[in-house]
Amino acid sequence: MQTDILVIGGGASGLMAARSAAAQARADGSPLQVTLLEKMPRPARKLMISGKGRCNFTNAKAWNDFSTHIEEGSRFVKNAFYGFDSAAAIAFFEREGMKTVVERGDRAFPASHHASDVVDTLVRSCLSEGVKIVTDCTVAEVSLDAKGRFLARCADGSEYRAQKLILATGGLSYPGTGSTGDGYRFAAAFGHTLTPTFPSLTALVPEGYKDGGGKALKGHIPRETPLSALGGKLCGVQLKNIGARLFIGGNCVEEHFGDVDFTDGGLEGPLGFAMSRKCVKALLNGNKACVELDLKSGVPADEFAARVTGLWKAQGGRLRAVLGALLPRELVPAFIAAHGNSVKGPGTLAAALRGWRFPIAGFVGYERAVVTAGGVPTAEVSPKTMESRLQKGLFLCGELLDIDCTTGGYNIQTAFSTGALAGRSAASSPAL
Ligand SMILES: Cc1cc2nc3c(=O)[nH]c(=O)nc-3n(C[C@H](O)[C@H](O)[C@H](O)COP(=O)(O)OP(=O)(O)OC[C@H]3O[C@@H](n4cnc5c(N)ncnc54)[C@H](O)[C@@H]3O)c2cc1C
Repeated sequence: MQTDILVIGGGASGLMAARSAAAQARADGSPLQVTLLEKMPRPARKLMISGKGRCNFTNAKAWNDFSTHIEEGSRFVKNAFYGFDSAAAIAFFEREGMKTVVERGDRAFPASHHASDVVDTLVRSCLSEGVKIVTDCTVAEVSLDAKGRFLARCADGSEYRAQKLILATGGLSYPGTGSTGDGYRFAAAFGHTLTPTFPSLTALVPEGYKDGGGKALKGHIPRETPLSALGGKLCGVQLKNIGARLFIGGNCVEEHFGDVDFTDGGLEGPLGFAMSRKCVKALLNGNKACVELDLKSGVPADEFAARVTGLWKAQGGRLRAVLGALLPRELVPAFIAAHGNSVKGPGTLAAALRGWRFPIAGFVGYERAVVTAGGVPTAEVSPKTMESRLQKGLFLCGELLDIDCTTGGYNIQTAFSTGALAGRSAASSPAL
């Protein structure tokens, strides 16, 4: 089959790229056929589960603030962001009939809080611009044909030829949504390299949290690994407004304040995620990592010590009773299991509450990581157009590139911004 612009991948970046390409071509008076191939039965499975099903589709911060939430690739993203920023994303969805709300931390959602509204709006916009969406179509390989056109061979035997190719296949996280890293291979077919990938925004697994059946667990610890006795006591505990410090090789490299959740994966929630990128990278590099939780962050040290001493005396040194007055009830058994033997008096108890140390054994992998860090190096792609510097007519966008952000709507927005630019550029660049 023949088309003008072929987009591989129907996630946030691919849908935005396809509709932007078609809209640009229409505006230029040269309608081009844009075809999008998506391997799953429906597009954008990942958007459907994003933001816990509510899809935090952008963050309304202006660039100076927004860019501080881009962990890797912020200089590269800047031009794409200015071409389609968060205000433009909100305006786009409103114009297309989807009401939006901006909540705490400038995070924008569909007003319905249904991620399906974001997906439906994107798909409807693509279709109304004339984009042909082919689902259940897994691209197996890409190359150039004898006439220098892009050729995509699909698993079902079909073939697509195009003047321009946009790769929007995402990263490796949540492979059940279709993102299995195929794009790295497609990009490599045109000479692109790969900055090593690793899971980010993922659960950190403390030592002793999972039951390795006698084997020491290390590195990637799959989420389904059973909990140990300690893990069983902690799993389900949610801690609000606490302090957390990340130590790498004995040095404190990050300090945060906020909420931590202990789940069947390990230590996550906003603080766990915030520390995960640096922590996973350190573990993969063979360094030791430790998270220290301050359960009474914000209370002056001497005031807290006096309170613990008073409680200790009042309760006659009965640890469980003292802890009952200081901690959420569900945390007490785990705290006693971890510190029962080392608490000798109010001094050691206060110190343990201000600095509960969790040496980190490993992390949950791509199976449940929110994003993939690493990817196709941005140095190999033009930030002005998203066109490959190695292959004319080839464009790359979204999580496939070596770009990743913190939580808060930044990842989807960068997928939208880079996708919109790739689409506009593919439509307006000269035919090969
Ligand atoms: C659980 C979860 C929650 C998240 N919540 C948020 C959030 O609230 N806010 C936020 O900003 N970010 C969130 N993210 C991250 C965000 O969803 C992604 O960064 C973003 O969707 C990436 O978009 P993308 O288009 O680059 O890739 P994807 O969305 O991964 O899309 C890639 C598409 O390409 C298709 N594809 C892959 N290979 C092929 C092939 N060979 N042939 C055909 N098609 C192929 C895939 O099926 C997929 O549909 C979340 C991620 C997860 C996993």
